[in-house]
Amino acid sequence: MLNINEIRKDFLILNTFVHGKPLVYLDNAATTQKPRSVIEAVQHYYAGENANIHRGIHQLSHAATKKYENVRDKIKNFVHAEKTEEIVFVRGATEAINLVAQTYGRSQVGEGDEILVSHMEHHSNIVPWQMLCEKKGAVLKVIPINDAGEIILEEYEELISPRTKIVSVTHMSNALGTINPIKEIIKTAHDKGVPVLVDGAQAVSHMSVDVQDLDCDFYVFSAHKMFGPTGIGVLYGKKELMEKMPPYQGGGDMILSVTFEKTKYHDLPHKFEAGTPAIASVMGLGAAVDYIHNVGLDNVAKYEEELLHYATEKLLKIPHLRMIGTSQNKAGVLSFVMEGIHPHDVGTILDKEGIAVRAGHHCAQPVMDRFQVPATSRASLALYNTRKEIDLLAQGLLKVLNVFK
Ligand code: PMP
Repeated sequence: MLNINEIRKDFLILNTFVHGKPLVYLDNAATTQKPRSVIEAVQHYYAGENANIHRGIHQLSHAATKKYENVRDKIKNFVHAEKTEEIVFVRGATEAINLVAQTYGRSQVGEGDEILVSHMEHHSNIVPWQMLCEKKGAVLKVIPINDAGEIILEEYEELISPRTKIVSVTHMSNALGTINPIKEIIKTAHDKGVPVLVDGAQAVSHMSVDVQDLDCDFYVFSAHKMFGPTGIGVLYGKKELMEKMPPYQGGGDMILSVTFEKTKYHDLPHKFEAGTPAIASVMGLGAAVDYIHNVGLDNVAKYEEELLHYATEKLLKIPHLRMIGTSQNKAGVLSFVMEGIHPHDVGTILDKEGIAVRAGHHCAQPVMDRFQVPATSRASLALYNTRKEIDLLAQGLLKVLNVFK
């Protein structure tokens, strides 16, 4: 059982006011708030431990390197990877997908080859592949979804051809909340010899992830959506695959030796970490993982499932509201439209009540097109949200209706 009152005390921002009203933060799919321990870890690093890593011979540098590499170990355990070198620090999910598209993709994908993504992907799991396809003359194919916002598995299977070079799908949709049957999706691809990248940007703060059990080839996520800092994220990749991939960016730290004639690249994971990384953010990410570990993701999943159920029932009672994304298996996202009212107006009126929701296409325009809406309003939940906040959201939506009566 989660003690939500205690948890809320860890997030100082939740005690602030917006337009004179207590903040009700329901934009967690965009970014989560940060607990005190994460903020302190970043501050502590700069105040007492700051040094560049991996190359110094002095004590501060050794200590910073050790802490940085300890976080890599923590991430390995967090996603249940087999080997520490399978964990690469990147800027976020977006950079991780670009890295795979530009390294695995550039070396493995040729003219006429195919890449499969689903209709519910975030732009960051569409555009890097489109760029690759444009460069290589490859084809991007789209796995269809049904009216509830679920991948149509039979059609997915039929889309995999001898030309398919990678399947790249989200674990959980930011626009719909759908949790995809990712293990089944991976098995289907593997049966035909095709590797799978899973975009875990939304999933990691809501459910525990075991990359070995899933057997995914790549798994990507961002720290800022799991209570950590911005500017840092993770690429997990199977060692055998990543060893064969060429480096992404060139520079310091990713080399063993450099001459003008020939550069030898470093081993994994450093081969993919050129330049000085976001060291302080890595410290914050380590604290975020500790925080999640202490709370327990299974407790979080149980609590949020109950809160999502409460919120769904409450919102469906609001006249003229239509939910977009009604998958059987979904987590903390409530995406909706209100007949005759633009989502931006919904968001602006709620903001005046201190309620932060997202309004727009959520960087997932193709899925908006699929549901024939230009945009939705989206309330997204995290472990610190309460039933009382959902009640305030519902009251706010009734005010919206009143304004447009
Ligand atoms: N994938 C999904 C499903 C997302 O929700 C997001 C962020 N909204 C991303 C990828 C990209 O994450 P980032 O902007 O942190 O790189």
